[in-house]
Amino acid sequence: MDIQVKENFLLQAAALHRTNPTVDAHLDLAGEVLLRHLAGEKEVVRRHYLTDFRKAGIRLVVSSVFVETGNLERGWQNALDQIAALKEDIRNLEDVALIESKEDLDRLLEGDGIGILLYMEGLDCIGEDIDRLNELFELGVRGASLTWSRPDALATGCCKAAEHKQIPGPLTQAGIRAVKRLEELSMFLDVSHLNDEGFEDLCRVAERSFIATHSGSRRIFDSYRNLTDEQMGCLAAQGGIMGMNGCQCIAGSLLGNHLEMLCRHIEYETAKLGADHVGYGFDLCDSYDQASAALKGQPHITRNDCLLNHGQVPLVTAALLQRGMDEESLKKIIGGNFLGYFGRILPDR
Ligand SMILES: [Zn+2]
Repeated sequence: MDIQVKENFLLQAAALHRTNPTVDAHLDLAGEVLLRHLAGEKEVVRRHYLTDFRKAGIRLVVSSVFVETGNLERGWQNALDQIAALKEDIRNLEDVALIESKEDLDRLLEGDGIGILLYMEGLDCIGEDIDRLNELFELGVRGASLTWSRPDALATGCCKAAEHKQIPGPLTQAGIRAVKRLEELSMFLDVSHLNDEGFEDLCRVAERSFIATHSGSRRIFDSYRNLTDEQMGCLAAQGGIMGMNGCQCIAGSLLGNHLEMLCRHIEYETAKLGADHVGYGFDLCDSYDQASAALKGQPHITRNDCLLNHGQVPLVTAALLQRGMDEESLKKIIGGNFLGYFGRILPDR
């Protein structure tokens, strides 16, 4: 049995999302756009996402470039293809733009458009060739996680969400060089798939704030994809933000109590860190999985998202209001914190 949200809180949340820019810090958008283009679709963002983004007041989406293959050259080509596909897909959309600088972000917030911020989810595809980060920067990519849920030349990922084993391995020398280069380029660093050992190393090595785009609290649900209390403290102490993951297998809502689990993550993180270090990074994957399965000729997928679509984001906010969270904290959580962070970390222009 999940939380039943009362009408007055739904209205209050809708008003909050209408007047305060909302951020989703993690969506596998570029990959989905490429998959759907390969299947012959066009205008994927407009047809599959724009209405729901508008409904939830979402103004900035952090789109991962998630490369499924660990193969170096095929992976690099796939990353380039994803970036090109996304750019092509939004080319004719007047109200959607790629965000590459603080200036872009300021301009976005002055108007009413929707911004997309590209980042690499895992860097398997660069191997040890750190200069490829500069090539990615030139293409408009503005952040990266060193690894996805597997070892690569830079670091070792924590296991996949459905598994439960800690994969050991520190940041490599190339990984440390990558951190330095990312910081020099004013690209943000994401720790969401990093293993515990790598996280510890990064805390020592990083000089700029880093974030977890799509991770919850391990105290609330015991998955290595979620952060320990100590990691949460380290993240917050250096000015980072954690975007709450909305996948059932990471939020831990396997009994169908989706809203309740999402609320518990946010409430625990806010109690521990204060409202300044908490955000939304829903990682809604069902639409991507559907596109991927359809391309392989497997039409049915198992649902794994806590929400049906982005149009339901205000429902989470409404549930938090009903459970007693104040509006000022929620303005930060739904988007204010991530907008502040990207405003600080992105290059000026
Ligand atoms: Zn991920």
